[in-house]
Amino acid sequence: MHQSNRSLLDIDRDHLIHPVTSFRGHEARGATLLQSGKGMWLTDMDGREVLDAFAGLWCVNVGYGQDSIVEAAAEQMRRLPYATGYFHFGSEPAVKLAQRLVDLSPDGLDHVYFTLGGSDAVDSAIRYITHYYNAIGKPAKKQCIALERGYHGSSSTGAGLTALANFHRGFDLPLRWQHHIASPYPYRSDLEGDDAAIIARSVQELKDKVAQLGADNVAAFFCEPIQGSGGVIVPPVGWLKAMRQACDELDILLVADEVITAFGRTGPMFACEAEGVTPDLMTVAKGLTAGYVPMGAVLMSDKVYQGIANGAAPDVAIGHGATYSGHPVSAAVGLEVLRLYTEGGILANGQKVAVRFDAGLAGLADHPMVGDTRGRGLLGAIELVADKGGKTRFDPALKLADRLFAKGYENGVIFRAFADNIIGLAPALCASDAEMDEIFARIRKTLDDLLEEADIRAAL
Ligand code: PMP
Repeated sequence: MHQSNRSLLDIDRDHLIHPVTSFRGHEARGATLLQSGKGMWLTDMDGREVLDAFAGLWCVNVGYGQDSIVEAAAEQMRRLPYATGYFHFGSEPAVKLAQRLVDLSPDGLDHVYFTLGGSDAVDSAIRYITHYYNAIGKPAKKQCIALERGYHGSSSTGAGLTALANFHRGFDLPLRWQHHIASPYPYRSDLEGDDAAIIARSVQELKDKVAQLGADNVAAFFCEPIQGSGGVIVPPVGWLKAMRQACDELDILLVADEVITAFGRTGPMFACEAEGVTPDLMTVAKGLTAGYVPMGAVLMSDKVYQGIANGAAPDVAIGHGATYSGHPVSAAVGLEVLRLYTEGGILANGQKVAVRFDAGLAGLADHPMVGDTRGRGLLGAIELVADKGGKTRFDPALKLADRLFAKGYENGVIFRAFADNIIGLAPALCASDAEMDEIFARIRKTLDDLLEEADIRAAL
């Protein structure tokens, strides 16, 4: 390690707070600084090259080092680095990106509000829903329902819809209007193998929860079409469609949080598309700009838009906004990223290499530590268990997730290692077949290496 790197690590420890990280844990472990990237590969501060099987944080869907994106950003910065959306101003890239999103997204989502990322997209959805029900004269409709193991960001309201314990612990969440129902988790369900029954149970739980809260009090059901941060939980095909129907029957809005699943991650441009579902609101981020610059969006149906519009006096501003909403540089990047997905062939490549990804997942099923593999498109998971028959998780005292991540890195592959020993995978859509095979070879080696360690072997 260079001397300069060592001092950077000290500065990091002393001054930089990392997201979703234990302060003390980070002080002890220190940072790994990433230096450069090209395609599927990252190079760290020590010159080590690693295959990124997680696209940064499920976002760099087009891979690193796409020069045309850099050029689009530079050109926009030179011409006009900033334009506010306030005072009826705007910019060409923001308008064009809104049009592209409306064209590409499920029919019926006609209006776009741009955010800086996913958390504020969810937060904006919550604020607009609140405003909508007040505007249409149903102010009691404020209760929101989401899924256990769901992730909807870490804003002060969205983190309560998120149902992961560390997002609630110490933050006085969830709020009193936030409720959760079980997630459709086939591997951990007593109904495993019976897709129709898993779907029917979810529908029933939603209906029961609405009945319990009072139909006139419930505003919306929030879900990820495939749950990401909860451990890549893939519901049976048809689940989202059934939930859409239930929301219609119950007269509540459906919010599809596609922050991870949008932009080809699960195969089609949007996961909703695969089920022929149009949500009332849809949140996106990550793949919208492929992580090159920050941006997210809320797509809104005409019903919600008109409700809000009709309820507000023409001369009174609706008080929701941000300095960087519709940022022209982010929008210019978004336009180029969308062009790469479509005309650039990256979406098609993702669909092609997904066959190899599927085969790679299936190929690990025989490993002694693997209880379940699952995925859709290029979003997948490998769930590790100490006992395949009983599906028993490894003892937390083994700290397997940390060891998995460290061993994977040593073997030159980055994946997500969730606390309950689920490996999350979300490689960029630009991967070649050979790179995909290499990812799985490195994961297998990582599992084999861990199996050599006495305490892990003994736990099996
Ligand atoms: N919703 C979902 C489904 C997400 O996966 C994420 C981020 N992982 C968010 C919202 C929050 O997005 P961000 O981290 O950009 O604020």
